[in-house]
Amino acid sequence: MLISSRVKGIQDSITMKLNEKSLLLSEEGKVLYNLSGGQLPIKPSVEFIEKIHHQLNFLKSYQYSPSGGFPALRKKLLSYFSSSRRLPEELFETSSDVIVSNGSKHSIYNALGSLIDPGDEVILLAPYWVSYPEMIKFWGGVPVVVKSNVYDAFVPAIDDIRKSISPSTKVIIVNSPNNPSGVHYSETWMREFALLLQDYPDLIVISDEVYSDLSYFDPKPSYFYQFDHSLLKRTVVVQAISKTLAATGLRLGWVIAPIEITTAMSSIQGQTTSGANSLIQRSLIDFDFSHIEGFLTPVKNHLRMNAEILREKFREANIGHCWYQSTSAFYFMIDFSRTPMFKRFEDSKDYSYLIADELLEKEGIILVPGTDFGIPNTARISLVIEEVPFREAVTKIIKYAHQV
Ligand code: PMP
Repeated sequence: MLISSRVKGIQDSITMKLNEKSLLLSEEGKVLYNLSGGQLPIKPSVEFIEKIHHQLNFLKSYQYSPSGGFPALRKKLLSYFSSSRRLPEELFETSSDVIVSNGSKHSIYNALGSLIDPGDEVILLAPYWVSYPEMIKFWGGVPVVVKSNVYDAFVPAIDDIRKSISPSTKVIIVNSPNNPSGVHYSETWMREFALLLQDYPDLIVISDEVYSDLSYFDPKPSYFYQFDHSLLKRTVVVQAISKTLAATGLRLGWVIAPIEITTAMSSIQGQTTSGANSLIQRSLIDFDFSHIEGFLTPVKNHLRMNAEILREKFREANIGHCWYQSTSAFYFMIDFSRTPMFKRFEDSKDYSYLIADELLEKEGIILVPGTDFGIPNTARISLVIEEVPFREAVTKIIKYAHQV
């Protein structure tokens, strides 16, 4: 009675229950390996911290910013985007704009709110980031899921996407590099996707690119609109500082999109949250984005090394068929339904939560169960932790995967 049906409809992440249990176990003194991390365990670069320090001296850093963000920052983000994606700046002069929000989760939420009417379908490519379905439903939309599997390194087939498009489809969300699979879709995939979009001129794409700088395996990520610039007229590109600058708590994300969409997003923002954090926005205005590459080099070396450890250990333990080459972001998905332990289950239900719970209880391993990502009987392994505990943790996961 008290709480609205809209909010009651939001599904709480089942991962929260696991987190609570982990806390209890660690208080009891159990050694835990936390492989659920979705953020870098390091501070941002010195250059960025210095910029924040400098901005602390100015009154404007503490006052409201314009609803869509400081114009100087928006201009800078647009030109950074066009140069990093090798797109001619003229493409954006009149038709595109940038809107800055309180983290890219907020950007995606406002973009969906600007685009979806009740009953509109939004296509998601599984595995997908946990928050998409709940945000879509919150705005009255209907998530339509296209599946993928470990044999294709969790890359969904273009034909399957085509089959899922209906007259009610309004938006498709593409997240490459992908959370949770840790892969980015190939150039061939992006070219075919661009061709597919030509057949559906009313379809809008939200391209969630928050991990685009975090690819540790060549070739680097590419995007459909690079092969057909006209697609930018119906693309909402999502970016953020959270992952690339190791600054998840500073809450700053942005969107590059056609002006009609950024204006709608700005209306939502103007009457709800107002402009994003002034201090961080102003610090970014004269931050040199070319520093990001150097800052991320050791991070990427670390991710590559842990990805290599997975390959080695899976092969040694004869579960090489569960391995695929992860290439980007912080993650890898293990499919337990292909491991010996799954003989315990005779039906095709989803045991992800039970598996994650047992791993925690028996081995002290914290993983995120695949249910939240739309792929049953899997779990997400984060690659961010140090090499030695990572090796130990993978050995324990493999031991569990062999218990029948
Ligand atoms: N998109 C993806 C794919 C993510 O993994 C995340 C965070 N985990 C976000 C968007 C949101 O990031 P933030 O709000 O911190 O910018």
